[in-house]
Amino acid sequence: MGHRGAADRLRELSRRLETLKLCGHRYLDAAGAEDLKTWAARHAPSVSAPIEAAAPPPKAPSRRPAAAPSGTKQEQLDAINAEVRVCVKCPLAKGRTNTVFGVGDPAARIMFIGEGPGAEEDRRGEPFVGRAGQLLTDMIEKGMNLRRADVYIANIVKCRPPGNRDPEPVEVESCEPYLKRQIALIQPEVICALGRVAAQTLLKTATPISSLRGEFHAYEGTPLLPTFHPAYLLRNPAMKKEAWNDLKMILRRLGLAVPADKKSP
Ligand code: SF4
Repeated sequence: MGHRGAADRLRELSRRLETLKLCGHRYLDAAGAEDLKTWAARHAPSVSAPIEAAAPPPKAPSRRPAAAPSGTKQEQLDAINAEVRVCVKCPLAKGRTNTVFGVGDPAARIMFIGEGPGAEEDRRGEPFVGRAGQLLTDMIEKGMNLRRADVYIANIVKCRPPGNRDPEPVEVESCEPYLKRQIALIQPEVICALGRVAAQTLLKTATPISSLRGEFHAYEGTPLLPTFHPAYLLRNPAMKKEAWNDLKMILRRLGLAVPADKKSP
């Protein structure tokens, strides 16, 4: 029920109770909606449905009953996403078609983070779609034996940098707080930084990705493993083996089965 609907119901209840008062009734023991309905029917036959609908204590309607933890996380992620959709904190807002917030399990153990949306992501409003996205999905599903829906996938900046250029420092600085809030809610056990820009930006370093990958670092206290960006792997398929070694490190870290006999995706 919307606020207007609730207000209408409350006004109707007030009017009905006033009628009962004029009939000589001075107080009412509202022990429950059903009791109230029976009581009202007995004392004022014309008063029925509105009282039943408005019988609960007249307080602001809650949006939903106590939610499961994952639902609560999803609601909070949705709230951040609502902020992102109207965000104009940096120049990237001007050129976007859609903001690209993130997808996946709000309680994911693994979070994949790239640097920013590309053209297809900008068009569809979802991270890692298109060819590179399909390879990431294969890495997750065929390689790690997980479902894409089991992990969480996001980017550092939520709007597409024009021409797929690297995000500028001011853009990262403006947008990173959204990512930090996503991470704080999801609380992944491992972050996998996809590509040079994501790894260097998150780790605040200029060290090449080839030196960063292969070992865990930390981002705001969360273990972070850099690996190659799927788009780079499409251009350099020989490096898929190295990326697969990185993904196996993540599986081991999480105590998950490592499909040792599988080829790199
Ligand atoms: S990139 Fe981030 S900070 Fe910049 S406009 Fe988009 S949502 Fe806002």
